[in-house]
Amino acid sequence: MAHDINKLWEQDKAHFIHPFTDFSVFEKEGCDIITESRGEYVFDGKGNKYLDGIAGLWCVNIGHGRREMGQAMAEQAERMAYYSPFNNLSNVPAIELSAKLAELAPSNLNHVFYSCGGSVANDTTVRIVHYYFNQLGQKDKKIIISRKNGYHGTTYVSSSLTGIESNNWGFDTADQFVHHVAEANCYRRPDGMTEAQYCDYLVEDFESSIRQLGGADKVAAFIAEPIMGAGGVLVAPEGYHRRMYDVCKKHGMLYIADEVVTAFGRLGHFFASEAVFGIQPDVINCAKGLTSGYIPLGATLLSDEIYAVISKPQREGAVFSTGFTYSGHPVACAAALKNIEIMERENICGNVRDVGPYLEQQLKTLLDLPIVGDVRGSHFMMCIESVADKATKALLPMEANVGKRIAEQCQKRGLIVRPIAHLNVLSPPLIWSRETVDLVVGILRQSILATVESLIEDGHY
Ligand code: PMP
Repeated sequence: MAHDINKLWEQDKAHFIHPFTDFSVFEKEGCDIITESRGEYVFDGKGNKYLDGIAGLWCVNIGHGRREMGQAMAEQAERMAYYSPFNNLSNVPAIELSAKLAELAPSNLNHVFYSCGGSVANDTTVRIVHYYFNQLGQKDKKIIISRKNGYHGTTYVSSSLTGIESNNWGFDTADQFVHHVAEANCYRRPDGMTEAQYCDYLVEDFESSIRQLGGADKVAAFIAEPIMGAGGVLVAPEGYHRRMYDVCKKHGMLYIADEVVTAFGRLGHFFASEAVFGIQPDVINCAKGLTSGYIPLGATLLSDEIYAVISKPQREGAVFSTGFTYSGHPVACAAALKNIEIMERENICGNVRDVGPYLEQQLKTLLDLPIVGDVRGSHFMMCIESVADKATKALLPMEANVGKRIAEQCQKRGLIVRPIAHLNVLSPPLIWSRETVDLVVGILRQSILATVESLIEDGHY
């Protein structure tokens, strides 16, 4: 379908408030309007074709334009698009999806609460955690420990869990019950520490924060992404999550795994917590890849233990008064069921386990380039960190906008990667082959070299 791109752009500027946008840059430079997408590719309205290196926004896991997904949603919309999930009303896709998620998740997680995305899933989790401890008579147990640079969303409470300082600039947060501890950043760990010593240091710091905050009487839970995503694709030291989990259990705290990015194959498994990190969290939140981004859906998976408490409230006849009109939306749940069916049928997790290490290995060849300080991540969740000086790890000046420069060079060559300050993130659809990886790494090499030239020309390097 032909589009009048200039007219769309005028309407966009006049009426569509974009999330996470620098309005001054947007108004000056405009935006790319993506009009179509197929498999690994997206197309803009000007006839350009791009390899999608970010799966939309860490979410289009099965790739774009799957007819089956459209059909599954259309069939459900025609049969029964919506009916209330409250009280004793239910719908078939929500029931079937809940049973399927319980089958795929760690064995203690058998109860699912639905929302429309990751922020709301995390927000709701805090509400449920507080309710859970209230039912247990532990009414002062309210503090949630999160991590600096963690990303958990932008509703009021989930933004308070988020520890990325620039994300919350100018906004208020619910500081009274959220505390942030240090993130695990192996690349920028203190000089002279081995990874094992760094892990000890982080775990000890966590435990001492719990004590300072009042211990088991006050601290309710810890929330963490298995691999920190938007905060810079930070992979924690070996054994970190297991040890943080053990500290939580020692202090009567719940462990909440924010698997909004890592669930549904990105690390080669439907859920990463147990398969990759060897823990059974009390809560796992997922969204994004749950429907491969074809329609919004978030899910909070709760342990049997939490469900046993919240389903038997202290007050006779009390109702679990939390939830949304669209909790367990039939069309969204039908999409998730079809998405999981496709992932299983095509062994998409197997592809990630096969091609993921190759992607990591090939991206690491870029470390010979002058500004590439670190290449990190795991499987289909990777990141390149640019620096001015590899020895000191000093950053290029902020105004050099190196991440954006690299992303623009890539886009010129037909690849979309995501800039975050001095980082470039790759979170591709999980269908990439080795051939696609070779193509991408070639484009990245040329783009980074062109960026070095432009940095020199502009006096930044
Ligand atoms: N948690 C994590 C780990 C995320 O990466 C995101 C989104 N990038 C969210 C939560 C928020 O999800 P949503 O944007 O769907 O609200």
